[in-house]
Amino acid sequence: MRITLDWLGVATYRLMIDDIVIFLDAYVDRVPAAPPVGITTADIARADYVLIGHSHFDHLWGAERIALRTGATVVGSYETVRLLHDSDLVPEAQLIAVGGGEPVEVSPNVRVRVFPSLHSCIWAKMTGAPGEACLGDLGLSCQTRRRRESRLMEAVQGGEMGKEVAAHLKESDRHPRSDGGALAYLIETPEGSILWKDTSGHWSGIMHDLHPDLALLAAAGRGNINGEPVQGSLAGFIAREVEMLRPCKVALCHHDNWMPPLTTVTDVEPIRHELGRRAPGVELIEMPYLGGYRVFG
Ligand SMILES: [Zn+2]
Repeated sequence: MRITLDWLGVATYRLMIDDIVIFLDAYVDRVPAAPPVGITTADIARADYVLIGHSHFDHLWGAERIALRTGATVVGSYETVRLLHDSDLVPEAQLIAVGGGEPVEVSPNVRVRVFPSLHSCIWAKMTGAPGEACLGDLGLSCQTRRRRESRLMEAVQGGEMGKEVAAHLKESDRHPRSDGGALAYLIETPEGSILWKDTSGHWSGIMHDLHPDLALLAAAGRGNINGEPVQGSLAGFIAREVEMLRPCKVALCHHDNWMPPLTTVTDVEPIRHELGRRAPGVELIEMPYLGGYRVFG
């Protein structure tokens, strides 16, 4: 069995398991200022499944075009599926809504297990550097968090980050209710398993039991542990995830400069340093865009 992985920027991957093609998220058509990932959705001719981690535009946008072009089935939260249904672009027969707990069969010997997860705390204070600790913002109500999220989105949509970003958001944002509910996916193959998380949050009770061979972990924003912002650094948050998961290999995602000037490239060195200290023996893989990384086989 030949299993390869192409990183396509942000948290989007193309996973190929022999002749099965699975997209993990669908966001490849980015702002012109972002470095190109090598393909656009118009180049995607084959896909069997598209798994969506959560409903924000930088994960979901593109799923409707990939599904239309390829006939792929989209698996996502009930909110993700609602947005795709309301777009009138994806036939109902190509949509599977999940909440966590469902084993989705993609072939007789490959299953995708779905788990409830958490989004990073976009409403909390952040530092720009992954090695720098960030404290506070504990215990804020849902209403306060939503107000802060709305203010942030209004500023970005209103042009604070430039006309290009505002125009891109107008086109790509389907206005989900918050993040639509974040999900983690464990892809189980006869050769080994791959855990994919497209945002920096988790329920620790769930993470403890997964033990994937390869973990694809989002490295962006303020980590969310069991519903509260991490009191520490992003590097520490990722090291904690790796300590719980105990994978053989880790690859980071969501750390590229995916929407300048809102984003910059994340410095991986503090994360590498923290992983070396707390999870020695775990290999940190660096994938270029469209790298065709051989996962197993
Ligand atoms: Zn998001």
